[in-house]
Amino acid sequence: MYQAFLIKYGEIGVKGKNRHIFEDTLVSQVGNALKPVDGEFTVRKENGRIYAQAQGDYDYDEAVEALSSVFGIVGFCPVVLIEDEGFEKLAEAVIDYAASEFPQSERSFTFKVVTRRARKNYPMDSMEVSAAIGERLLDAYPALSVDVHNPQVTIHIEIRNKINIYSKTIPGPGGMPVGTAGRAMLLLSGGIDSPAAGYMIAKRGVKIDAVYFHAPPYTSDRAKQKVIDLARIVAKYAGPIRLHIINFTQIQLYIYDKCPHDQLTIIMRRYMMKLAEHFAREDEDLGLITGESIGQVASQTMQSMAVTNEVCTMPVYRPLVGFDKQDIVDIALKIGTYETSILPYEDCCTIFVAKHPVTKPNLKSIHKSETHLAEKIDAMMQEAVDTAETIRVEYS
Ligand code: ATP
Ligand code: MG
Repeated sequence: MYQAFLIKYGEIGVKGKNRHIFEDTLVSQVGNALKPVDGEFTVRKENGRIYAQAQGDYDYDEAVEALSSVFGIVGFCPVVLIEDEGFEKLAEAVIDYAASEFPQSERSFTFKVVTRRARKNYPMDSMEVSAAIGERLLDAYPALSVDVHNPQVTIHIEIRNKINIYSKTIPGPGGMPVGTAGRAMLLLSGGIDSPAAGYMIAKRGVKIDAVYFHAPPYTSDRAKQKVIDLARIVAKYAGPIRLHIINFTQIQLYIYDKCPHDQLTIIMRRYMMKLAEHFAREDEDLGLITGESIGQVASQTMQSMAVTNEVCTMPVYRPLVGFDKQDIVDIALKIGTYETSILPYEDCCTIFVAKHPVTKPNLKSIHKSETHLAEKIDAMMQEAVDTAETIRVEYS
């Protein structure tokens, strides 16, 4: 029934020069999101608006789902397009539109008609069109009534090359189009938190790369596949993700062998951060992203995070830092990662975890323990870099 979608976006922070960057990026992100949808679309900017227009038949539900995950979209309106064949034909089209948009049982709302003319050669002015269409609707559907101040439904008529009719707005996710705010490296595990953290940063317009540390044979191929699946779901919102899969087994065993066991997690996390930064520099990322939240586990106390952070030279973004677990679960449910995250495959961090990890690590003592790694750690880090596998993960 609808031939196009009118896309509404927020305008805060997109004044001046930034505006066309924002709009052009949004146009290309809408195009990308619609690519896997059954049907052909052209996306274009017109008079400060963005339209996605269908070229023939398409799958409406798939298109709605795709647009619902494009950051930068505040809402979108399914639009009926008709040729301009005179007022009489327009009135009939609006009456038909109301019939299919609102089932008979619901056709008792208050409404107003808002008309805009993008071309001034139309024989009636906007007010005349609105008044005349309003009258025709009242004749056709006597249970309707007009309320120009607080209508339940606003029927928009826009007179352009073709005439646009729309009344319904489907909410979008908001945020900023991905690609308007630089890129960052997500430390992506198989848990609930890090996919949600990636989603939140991507929502601010940041393009996402990712690293995953695995420890074969202690962690299985299924655990790795789970992380790839999670990356794919995040890519639905963030666009294609470059995922580096890093073999961490040797380093973990070496730390296990040489350092006090209550410090394992914290020392391991410091080496994860260093390796993540290495790949972040290669990918020209401007920061790291983790799913940490204060106090959630021993390695996420303020003291632990300070000790972990000490090795980082890049900013570390922790968008969930002040969230309770339930708040994070709610995000994971909303974005569709939860079901995958709770699959019970082992994580590399949990395998070598101590019974009683330190919760208030002392930096001096950690430095001292790390001197025991001096002999081989640089070569092992280099090997982890050299043997990393990089794949491109895309939503399809
Ligand atoms: P998550 O639910 O994201 O796994 P978590 O509650 O299990 O987090 P930790 O295991 O302490 O917490 O990990 C904290 C953060 O470190 C994760 O959110 C993630 O960003 C990163 N991280 C942990 N393990 C890995 C891993 N194997 N590969 C990549 N990043 C990891
Ligand atoms: Mg985890």
